[in-house]
Amino acid sequence: MRRPALPLRVYIDRLRGLYGRPKRPIPSGPFEWIIWEHVAAVPDDEQRALVFRTLRQKIGTTPQAILRTPKPKMIELLAPGGPNPGARLARLHEAAELMIEIGLARVRTLVRESPVEATKLLKRFKGIGEPGADRILLFCRTQAALAPDANGLRVLGRLGYGKPNANGPAAYRQIGDALAPDLPRDYNWLIQAHQLLRRHGQDICRATPRCEACPLAPDCAWFRRGSR
Ligand code: SF4
Repeated sequence: MRRPALPLRVYIDRLRGLYGRPKRPIPSGPFEWIIWEHVAAVPDDEQRALVFRTLRQKIGTTPQAILRTPKPKMIELLAPGGPNPGARLARLHEAAELMIEIGLARVRTLVRESPVEATKLLKRFKGIGEPGADRILLFCRTQAALAPDANGLRVLGRLGYGKPNANGPAAYRQIGDALAPDLPRDYNWLIQAHQLLRRHGQDICRATPRCEACPLAPDCAWFRRGSR
């Protein structure tokens, strides 16, 4: 199994030094995280947060509230989240109907007590695959994994946890296996590590990375190989 030069906590400490302490995530509970996925079509978390907060404040975040709010009002609330708010509304309606069918209380209980069963249910929601389900369980503090998004996965692959630039389910699982021995059961740390890796993949370790600005460069397999 591929291993990077340093323990994960050292890389995360350096990213915290660069970006500071990430803000506390805003959504709470599995349905709010599903809403969070669909309220915006932009990579900017601040804009997503703005749309989410407005929605929560104006109509609430229960499945019933989503379904009973008139369509023009919902479109107005979703519009600042980027193009095609109608498609995002359709996703939200679908998610709300499915959550009512399954039962929010049942999903909450499974998220708390049986992450494996919760994952099966969460994957029934459109747009929620294995990484999305893992992410919800991480942010609900019931599954101690890093659940990196595509940005975090790119950083981790380049550092040496997997094949650089690999993505997709196989790469996600392989990097997850390589990370497992390095992960503490400390949810505050895991959530911040997830957020910092995402931020690094968005800002510096992009498809074309800016390694000259990266504090991880001296101990990055990709950089040391001269792949830049
Ligand atoms: S050195 Fe370059 S490739 Fe390695 S993590 Fe930093 S930005 Fe990414």
